[in-house]
Amino acid sequence: SSRNTYGFKRAEIIAALINSILLFITLTYIFYEAVQRLFHPQEVISIIMLPVAIVGLLGNFFSAAILFRESQKSINLKSTFLHIVIDTISSVIVIAGGLIIRYTGWYYIDPILSLIVIIFVLKEGFAIFREVVHILMQGTPTDIDLAQIKSRLESLPGVVNIHHVHIWSLNENERFSEFHVLINCQSLNDMDQLRDQINRVLQDEYHINHSTIQFEGKNCSFTNI
Ligand SMILES: [Zn+2]
Ligand SMILES: [Zn+2]
Repeated sequence: SSRNTYGFKRAEIIAALINSILLFITLTYIFYEAVQRLFHPQEVISIIMLPVAIVGLLGNFFSAAILFRESQKSINLKSTFLHIVIDTISSVIVIAGGLIIRYTGWYYIDPILSLIVIIFVLKEGFAIFREVVHILMQGTPTDIDLAQIKSRLESLPGVVNIHHVHIWSLNENERFSEFHVLINCQSLNDMDQLRDQINRVLQDEYHINHSTIQFEGKNCSFTNI
């Protein structure tokens, strides 16, 4: 819309940010619980609860399976997926831990398993959090090498140099760039062709689909153009 020319694509990134913060809160809670149980071991599940826990586990497992493919597409779904994975693994721990404790009496298995899961999820969650913050800070997309892109564009015929380069992401699919191009004197027609060529390189090789290019011809006299 004209009021939100970037659409609501950033909303998804903000949702992912909230999601990963919720993830950290959940992890803190699980950590607290695990430490409690480490010092005050207890039977985590009674045999009556077992069917309920198994149904919960199956539900989580199917949600995770359905979301897995989708989760590759967006950072928000990735963090939602991670959340469901935690729930699934937690159910497994509750069930397995409950059974192991029941038959071996080894109470420490449950908190130890929980702590292992926390370490794993914390690593994943932190990676998502970093990516989201990087996007919100208008950081250069992590797979883009600014110096490399500059020399690639400077290799195009007619380009003297590229400077004042900014590249950022709106979300993980939409990338923007803005830069100045110093050119040899050319006709306006040549300049249009060069701009098309630059845009093609940016789209095909770097997946940058919106670019603002400012041409400069310092040594040009007006009679040339
Ligand atoms: Zn600037
Ligand atoms: Zn300039």
